[in-house]
Amino acid sequence: MIDNLPPLRDVITMHDLRAKKQLGQNFLLDLNLTSKIARQAGDLKDCDVLEIGPGPGGLTRGLLAQGARHVLAIEKDPRALPALEQIAEAYPGRLTVINGDALEIDPLAHLTPPIRIAANLPYNVGTELLIRWLTPRAWPPFWQSLTLMFQKEVAERITAKPGSKAYGRLALLAQWRADAQIVMHLPPEAFVPAPKVHSAVVHLTALPEPRFPADPAVLSQITGAAFNQRRKMLRASLKGLHPGIESLLLTCDIPPTARAEEIDLERFCALARALSEARATG
Ligand code: SAM
Repeated sequence: MIDNLPPLRDVITMHDLRAKKQLGQNFLLDLNLTSKIARQAGDLKDCDVLEIGPGPGGLTRGLLAQGARHVLAIEKDPRALPALEQIAEAYPGRLTVINGDALEIDPLAHLTPPIRIAANLPYNVGTELLIRWLTPRAWPPFWQSLTLMFQKEVAERITAKPGSKAYGRLALLAQWRADAQIVMHLPPEAFVPAPKVHSAVVHLTALPEPRFPADPAVLSQITGAAFNQRRKMLRASLKGLHPGIESLLLTCDIPPTARAEEIDLERFCALARALSEARATG
């Protein structure tokens, strides 16, 4: 028992919250499990937590039971609002719910730093939000940490190291300005209804500054071009970025015949700096 609210199965029956496939609804009904996920989000006591897609509120209850100062929950499905209202009554002044699409809503007006983000979201929305949270122009971002559920393969792409099949743009984006770790694995049966895929929780902590200096737009352009054609040699995939790309690669200790997946973050950042400089000096 983490609170005095009804079990999630009863909440779902009471409010007729049958899962809708088009909203990516796969609910977590075990409050011990949602509390465990909430614990992975770090010390919540002095933090505001942004939760996207609370649904019937299993993770929301975990976050509040773990002591979150305030939870702002954004949920698209209006059917979930009565269940969330019950939770708000049990934790007076600590839960605010916004009914809407997280891709459209700017939550910042409702949050006070320090801010952590936690979510079990449909995977397509999760990846889109992750990329937005990782790519602001200025760093550090508005959040301290992200604790997010993903399809296992996506979690592996976020935390992948050079040389592996999963290594690509998402790994570089995530690891350039954050620490990223898989902290939990969940089988399909952890969810109701059970999805076809395995899942994993990724915890990302924002670094105070990027691991290596680079212009975010230039780095994004390079990694985009390099991994869009990941089977090609870099001298070919990056040809369009600068007429002298081969010599720029060489100055960064990157063989022009190498493929993107062999190159680590440090050398991609060096290449971004060299390209910025070459463009500036014309
Ligand atoms: N967090 C709950 C749990 O763990 O049981 C629900 C998880 S379910 C995978 C995803 C939730 O996100 C659903 O409640 C769904 O209605 C909501 N959702 C889907 N798309 C959304 C969006 N664009 N903005 C906000 N919520 C969304």
